[in-house]
Amino acid sequence: MLWPPLCIPQCIAPDRASGRGKESGKRLSLQGRLFREVSAALPAALTRPLGAPAAVFFHGVEHVISNPLLQENHHALDAFYAIARALKRDFEIAPLSELPDVLRSPKKHRRTVFLMSDDGYANTLSTAAGVLESFGLPWALFISTQHIDSGELNPMFIARLFSQYAPAGEYAFPGFPTPVRFGGTERTERHSFRERLRSLPAERARAVISEMRRILENSRGAELMDRYASERFLGWDEVRALAQRGVTIGAHADWHWPMHGGEDPKFLKLQTELPKRRIEAEVGTCRYFAYPFGNEKDVSGPAWRAVRDAGYDYAFTTMSGTLCTQLNPWLLPRYGLALEEPNLTSRISLLRFGNRRLSHWQRRLH
Ligand SMILES: [Zn+2]
Repeated sequence: MLWPPLCIPQCIAPDRASGRGKESGKRLSLQGRLFREVSAALPAALTRPLGAPAAVFFHGVEHVISNPLLQENHHALDAFYAIARALKRDFEIAPLSELPDVLRSPKKHRRTVFLMSDDGYANTLSTAAGVLESFGLPWALFISTQHIDSGELNPMFIARLFSQYAPAGEYAFPGFPTPVRFGGTERTERHSFRERLRSLPAERARAVISEMRRILENSRGAELMDRYASERFLGWDEVRALAQRGVTIGAHADWHWPMHGGEDPKFLKLQTELPKRRIEAEVGTCRYFAYPFGNEKDVSGPAWRAVRDAGYDYAFTTMSGTLCTQLNPWLLPRYGLALEEPNLTSRISLLRFGNRRLSHWQRRLH
């Protein structure tokens, strides 16, 4: 597969949101909020002709969300059911095997949507799979193999847990540039802490996360780590069970951490080669990759080249946009489904307004 193409299409404006609703506890940019408000206000009949093929993703699905700030990656079952019904009613949900044809002829596939789930939470098997099967919707699951191998919690979940449960005080974490105060902090400060954490190279971030975990276990008890069943990962037997039910299994790196410009090339190589090897040993062919976090600051030029060199055919970001012919196949757009999507048809139909930002970004990373 050749990259770059001779020219990059100007497909249109951005959703920095990378697709999470305000109710999820994640903060949206002005552009993301604008996109959401406009798409919520326009009737589907008006927006449908603007539709183009797209990819959308979710994380997990829980029967009941008991702590929305901590469980921000999970849809409530009734909201997820409504999303699946809307997808079935208004779109053609296709398996990833149809991706080459869709990229070749997007105009022939205006209503085509690829549905995916990231991380590999156990509730994708216990809850999401049944809903999607009941509607006959194909989907792909992108797993972070270290977490499947070890059951280790998502590092950002530990950071969220720390934000809520750490004893009040000032903490000087190893490798973190400045001390951080917790306890009574405003939501914006907690958000800013997690943003700064996310920009650290993996090795430094690991040290911070491990210190957080130690402090939480000492102060709140080890059982806090297991209190939220939503955060449990699948094991390999369960991943195989999903594959046998027709779910395409892709890689979501090894350790769930951004592949940004501050990362060591050796880390990028490991993050791309290791999950492919593990999935192929445990399940079968692995042709697809999805970047952890996957937004503008989370994916670098060396990262997508590492994905390409590891032998993946396609990779997905969390930049919004539609699937166009001349996109870099290792930097494809994907919209993250908000926790509630009352106007999903308009929202997906308007994703093309992210294409301009997407193409600028791809040029910068080239
Ligand atoms: Zn993820």
